Amino acid sequence: MKKRPFITLEQARQIAREVPTPFHVYDEAGIRANARRLKEAFAWNKGFREYFAVKATPNPYILKILKEEGCGCDCASYTELLLSEAVGITGHDVMFSSNVTPEQDMRKALEMGAYVNLDDATYVEFLENLCHGRLPETVCLRYNPGGSFCLSNTIMDMPRDAKYGMTEDQMAGAMNRLQRLGVKHFGLHAFLASNTTTNEYYPELASQLFHLSVRLRNATGAHISFINLSGGVGVDYRPEQPSCDIAVIGEGVRQRYEQILRPAGMGDVAIFTELGRFMLAPYGHLISTVIHQKHIYREYVGLDACAANLMRPAMYGAYHHITVLGKEDAILDHVYDVTGGLCENNDKFAIQRSLPRIEVGDMVAIHDTGAHGFSMGYNYNGKLRSAEVLLKEDGSFQLIRRTETPKDYFATFDCTEFAFGE
Ligand SMILES: *Cc1c(COP(=O)(O)O)cnc(C)c1O
Repeated sequence: MKKRPFITLEQARQIAREVPTPFHVYDEAGIRANARRLKEAFAWNKGFREYFAVKATPNPYILKILKEEGCGCDCASYTELLLSEAVGITGHDVMFSSNVTPEQDMRKALEMGAYVNLDDATYVEFLENLCHGRLPETVCLRYNPGGSFCLSNTIMDMPRDAKYGMTEDQMAGAMNRLQRLGVKHFGLHAFLASNTTTNEYYPELASQLFHLSVRLRNATGAHISFINLSGGVGVDYRPEQPSCDIAVIGEGVRQRYEQILRPAGMGDVAIFTELGRFMLAPYGHLISTVIHQKHIYREYVGLDACAANLMRPAMYGAYHHITVLGKEDAILDHVYDVTGGLCENNDKFAIQRSLPRIEVGDMVAIHDTGAHGFSMGYNYNGKLRSAEVLLKEDGSFQLIRRTETPKDYFATFDCTEFAFGE
């Protein structure tokens, strides 16, 4: 399907008069409508809850919008917990799904009353020591089935090579021990494939976790109160890719629930999700201006944004669609490499991409940057982090994070010994 930006050239120019490019812009109306579709797709499950994966877009204004749509937060670090707390998201509205967890982080999660999701059976003792014997009533355990994870005979990922989670035997052992320590309810969690664009991922994962929960209940007598399907539902980064239909996904999970859990007397289990990409990616663009062009063995277009603002193309070779604003319907009769200015040859947003004729001063929208975009940014080459802007439902915009300045970049040095210019 043709990809259209949610912002016009006129709107982008208007923002750029106050917030120079590059900047990330988010579409409030799109975020809210999508969050409502997700909720609707799982409305059949009484306890359903989405815990937004904060790492995807760690901005309190975005978390606040999602909170208004009924979402909690999925955090994995101390600062993500602080961010969630600052928005007033605490207690069971927080899922703490961390790994290689520092003591300080786990202590903070417990203090906030978050659900803690244990990555390993050895964390039972860790928790025991931190809680001085007074454990939370509910504890979540992360599962790793090993082997390969397949959907219709295609290998999606290799859990046996992944560092996350524990084996079924370790889960049973942990549940027995936790019950002796007074834990009354359990959650089960697994994340087995990332950015899936088939409607089959969640239903297949649910099926595996539902069967697992019946076996673990039978083996340990423990009460399982929720199943956390985690993240992994993907988005169509390429125009020719299929997109996920969340209503079909929700219905697929419901059918497995009716087939597996309800007959086992487990019809009270709540379904949780920890989506990041699906919630935000399509509702963010990186807006950038063309500042140079060069013609050597290839045609190059140089932007004022670089991989430090969006790492996915350089890191994973990921495709991000590009629209030249104001030329949405022009013919794609030129072929360009679209680059940033890092001293790194992999700093290319697009390689040999068909685009309309481009001029210096044109503004481009790089699509699907709302998740794992700004958040994966870095400061290599002394490049500064960009601003983040919210395009509100009424068409006005709000600066939700200012652009970094040299002063921010130098803030961690001792400024009494060295004097930095601005
Ligand atoms: C990254 C992550 C998510 C979100 O993944 P998406 O692919 O963005 O949906 C959810 N849960 C955990 C534990 C994660 O690490």
